[in-house]
Amino acid sequence: MLTDLHGILAPNSRRTSGTGMGGRIQVIEFDNPLRSLTRTISGSHVLYLYEDLRHYIDSAAAYALTCLNQGHRILIIENDYCKKAIERKLAESWIDERLEHVHFVDNFDFYQKHGEFQGCLTRKHFESIMRPFLEEEISIRTWAHIQWKPQPHIEAKLEEFEVMADCSVKEQNLISVCAYDAKAISASLQTSLMRSHEYLMTDREFIVSGLYRNPNSERVIHPSMALQEKLLLEHKQLLIDKEAAERANRAKDEFIATMNHEIRTPMNGVLGMADLLAETTLDGDQAAYVEIIRKSGSSLLQIVNDILDFSKIGSVRESSPEEPVHIRDCVAEVADLLQAARLGKDLALDVNIEDDVPETLLGDPHPIRQILFNLLGNAIKFTQRGSISIEVSLLPGSEEGRSRLRFRIADSGAGIPRAHWRKVFQPFYQVDGGLSRGAEGTGLGLAISKKLVERMNGQIGIEPSPNGGTTIAFTVELGEFPSRARPGGSSNGPQAEA
Ligand code: ADP
Repeated sequence: MLTDLHGILAPNSRRTSGTGMGGRIQVIEFDNPLRSLTRTISGSHVLYLYEDLRHYIDSAAAYALTCLNQGHRILIIENDYCKKAIERKLAESWIDERLEHVHFVDNFDFYQKHGEFQGCLTRKHFESIMRPFLEEEISIRTWAHIQWKPQPHIEAKLEEFEVMADCSVKEQNLISVCAYDAKAISASLQTSLMRSHEYLMTDREFIVSGLYRNPNSERVIHPSMALQEKLLLEHKQLLIDKEAAERANRAKDEFIATMNHEIRTPMNGVLGMADLLAETTLDGDQAAYVEIIRKSGSSLLQIVNDILDFSKIGSVRESSPEEPVHIRDCVAEVADLLQAARLGKDLALDVNIEDDVPETLLGDPHPIRQILFNLLGNAIKFTQRGSISIEVSLLPGSEEGRSRLRFRIADSGAGIPRAHWRKVFQPFYQVDGGLSRGAEGTGLGLAISKKLVERMNGQIGIEPSPNGGTTIAFTVELGEFPSRARPGGSSNGPQAEA
């Protein structure tokens, strides 16, 4: 990755004389801005986005020399390759015992040992390097070359880390230069770093960052054309990716809709014929075969339905209708739909809707029914004996005019081991692959429920069940219904007189 350093040692500098920490000192004035930088600002974390390694080495050496000239020590955190180049440059420019005051640390071992970037560890590491100097109150300046592999998740951590580092540089009144290879990090990381660093260097200039704590990006002047170009390219790429994703999404939707139709039609034919066949006179074996055809056909249809639901929620978000939602009716309807399955296993159902849950709220009742259907369906499917309960309670909404409901569905069944609590909400995930539990399913019910819940500003998760079984709770946010009168519900409550 490093460019050829051949020729770097021809210094772009001129020698003058001056005084520093005493004794004969050769001061090198470089044709770059670091000299004024180190003389004037204390408590500064300077961001250096370099594009050219030759300039980078020049700048590092110039910085070190100016710091030495001003009576500071200098700590350079650098890889071996750059370290040697900087050393050569210093040795050529400054023939003086004060070169002892230049300290190098190679972070390579530290990087290797920790693999993944971790802000806190890196900060601790830096503090441990600095401690001896600070304890002895030795004035020191730092220069750090940040070289983590540019991966998106690391970039986010770097951003946090730099904000943290900025605070500690200010607290300790240090001057610290933090250098990044501008080609190796994204333009968005560059701009966000510029927001958190007041002073900014490029290979050619030292300036006050145009973005520093400036929330209005329209007024921002980007300091380098190369960065602007990079931003434009990234933006263009994002648009291309977005369009490609949308096209792929449309193609996927069409494919699923077609497959749905193509599978459903013949499957309904098979099931219809199997029903008719079951009504004819069959011997024992034949009846068993027909039953297998019917069962397999229904599970195949269920799978098709689940996949279709899942992919529909994944595609472009359509806005949800705002219509009256009668919570008690939703619960009752779902309980009715699953009554046969529940009674088939002799499971009791206990429904408790707290009194302060409004009769009517505003929102989309369909996803609520679907989530309840999935969760109650699972509770019945995975419970062999005992009971199931549904509780609904009211929580305050995130803003005025909104209400939050919490649903809790608990069963006395097999339970879900804690290690799987998060995973079961991933698509197609089944505990034990669903096989050893002898239950059918696609592993999509909870993933669909999670997406629907999140669309309603809610959360879903598994709660501990002290007596065994499974408890799944979810919240949804709905609008408050403006009038107290209940429109068009089927409750037996008093009707308003005309
Ligand atoms: P499916 O039920 O179709 O397999 P889900 O996404 O609804 O898919 O559930 C994923 C997995 O979570 C199930 O396969 C099962 O292992 C586990 N699970 C869900 N609900 C329960 C429950 N009430 N009791 C025990 N296990 C459950």
